[in-house]
Amino acid sequence: MKIVRYQVRVLDRKGNVTFKKTFKVESVALERARKAKENGKKVILRKKVKEGFKLRDGWGSTTTRPAAPKPVKTLVGHHSVTKQLSPNATVKQEQAEMRSVQAIGYARGLGGFPYGVAIPPSGRCYKGSGFGTVEAATGGYNTPTDSIVFLGNYEVFKLTKEQIEAAVAVGRWAREQGFTTKVVAFDPHQKYKATACPGKHVMAELKSIEKQINS
Ligand SMILES: [Zn+2]
Repeated sequence: MKIVRYQVRVLDRKGNVTFKKTFKVESVALERARKAKENGKKVILRKKVKEGFKLRDGWGSTTTRPAAPKPVKTLVGHHSVTKQLSPNATVKQEQAEMRSVQAIGYARGLGGFPYGVAIPPSGRCYKGSGFGTVEAATGGYNTPTDSIVFLGNYEVFKLTKEQIEAAVAVGRWAREQGFTTKVVAFDPHQKYKATACPGKHVMAELKSIEKQINS
């Protein structure tokens, strides 16, 4: 996801910056620049494009998993083996799927959404039980790890390019937020348990994702 910002810098005659502010809305930045110019000031207007990360909440999470010590050294990858959403699914459809996985979690006695962060084929990122918590994803290792789940079945379906990019973004964001150590391992669930999880198509991308998170 791209985030666009507009930075206005106003300089005095000596070239010293006397005003500097970043605006979200282009027209507001232009207006501020125009005013400064009217007053005979030198103005520099810059458009800044940054790769942004948005963790979506507000889908109806009722999950409360206990807090865990952070940072952790390991992220664990899972797949949910639930409905395979289209990469073009709407936010509403994905929110419904989050509630559905949460309901499965409750039915299994896991206290709600079992995984920290979820990534459907669209590449949007949803907060499940969150990072910095004892998730209910990787039996015996939920305290020293945080978990990412790819919604769907990746024994059958390939990850989309958007999901791969999103997993990298989640990993980098987690480090920025202090949830993980500077260098983090992205392990498959099957490293900790005899399971096919996270599926062969996630397995094929895991090391590359890990490398990009740490690059
Ligand atoms: Zn798993």
